[in-house]
Amino acid sequence: MSEKHFIPLSVPNFSGHEKEYVNDAVVSEWVSTGGSLVPKFEQAVADYVGMPRAVACNSGSSGLHLAMMIAGIGRGDEVLAPTLTFIAAVNPIRYAGAEPIFIGCDDSLCLSPALAEEYLSANAEMQDGRCVSKITGAHIKALVVVHVFGNLADMEGIMDLAARWNLLVIEDSTEALGTRCDTGRYAGKFAGTIGDVGVYSFNGNKIITTGAGGMVVSNHADWAEHAKHLSTQAKADELNFVHDEVGYNYRMTNLQAALGLAQLEQLEGFIAHKIEMYEFYRQALDGKNHYRILPFKDGVRSNHWFYSLYVEDSHPLGRDEIIRRLSEEKIQTRPIWALIQDQADYPRNQRYGDELAYDYLHHVVNLPCSTNLSKEDAQRVVDVLLGL
Ligand SMILES: *Cc1c(COP(=O)(O)O)cnc(C)c1O
Repeated sequence: MSEKHFIPLSVPNFSGHEKEYVNDAVVSEWVSTGGSLVPKFEQAVADYVGMPRAVACNSGSSGLHLAMMIAGIGRGDEVLAPTLTFIAAVNPIRYAGAEPIFIGCDDSLCLSPALAEEYLSANAEMQDGRCVSKITGAHIKALVVVHVFGNLADMEGIMDLAARWNLLVIEDSTEALGTRCDTGRYAGKFAGTIGDVGVYSFNGNKIITTGAGGMVVSNHADWAEHAKHLSTQAKADELNFVHDEVGYNYRMTNLQAALGLAQLEQLEGFIAHKIEMYEFYRQALDGKNHYRILPFKDGVRSNHWFYSLYVEDSHPLGRDEIIRRLSEEKIQTRPIWALIQDQADYPRNQRYGDELAYDYLHHVVNLPCSTNLSKEDAQRVVDVLLGL
């Protein structure tokens, strides 16, 4: 009998023009941050999400740091942020010298505007048009929202909250390239284009990849230009090495952009495949053997980046044992993130409304979801899960 092969959680899919475009870039000798493909990729992403301009950078994390800086977040400020997320969404608040206030999630796994409102009503007040913490006296200046696993956060609720409390909104859309509102106030708008700044990631496990890479978009044209300036060492006069602020080496390279252009051509096909495989798991597992498959929001065309299996307490094996058994069958899955408020560097930060976040933390498993996942492999995952 042949050995069972390994089924990875989420791996890149290079079945398009990747080799050709990267080879052309190498042959051209434009491999670093100069070269024509970076602006070409920026324009292609901007056109795709319907924004005039996008600024490419070398990771989603650097993009989020740029977002903090162009939004003017600085020393002593406070920023509302999700507690149930990947830590790269929150650390840039600290890079900027500010402190996160952790807010729990709603049933989309994303930051809950209702919980944020409860926190602010109890602990903040408006002073001269600024949201000020009654606990620390700090200016609560912004809110970071993450569109978790490609599910769109409640952006109507978040934008209303932001208007009431005069907060800037930074959308961490690193997991949500391609997620689009189809109904309501933001119909036609993509994740990342609703708030003040949006950031995408092209890390190896994201829906499209450049190896590592990111992109910043903004509804303030001058902010996008500022992001570009900061990402290229803040050169005021390139020839004479004059720099007008502290800049960074955050620009994307031409090689990364070559990969990105080939990947972007396939994005809609990847999303179609993700949706198809999600429906396959949902029909096979939802409501069976003490499992639920968590939904993506109605009225939104989600990119369906990651699939979440929720293991009920009534299941004879716990979530962690299920992950272990799948691993024995050479099936790679993972638990959802530990809460950021419990990470080593954030013990003293304010936190509010984490009950549901802890519930998801203890019950969610992400299932294999690569864009080249076959029906046969997904069936193997289903068979193992139903046998546990
Ligand atoms: C991937 C990810 C990031 C960081 O992106 P990188 O490109 O890996 O730096 C930030 N936030 C969230 C929620 C992510 O999933």
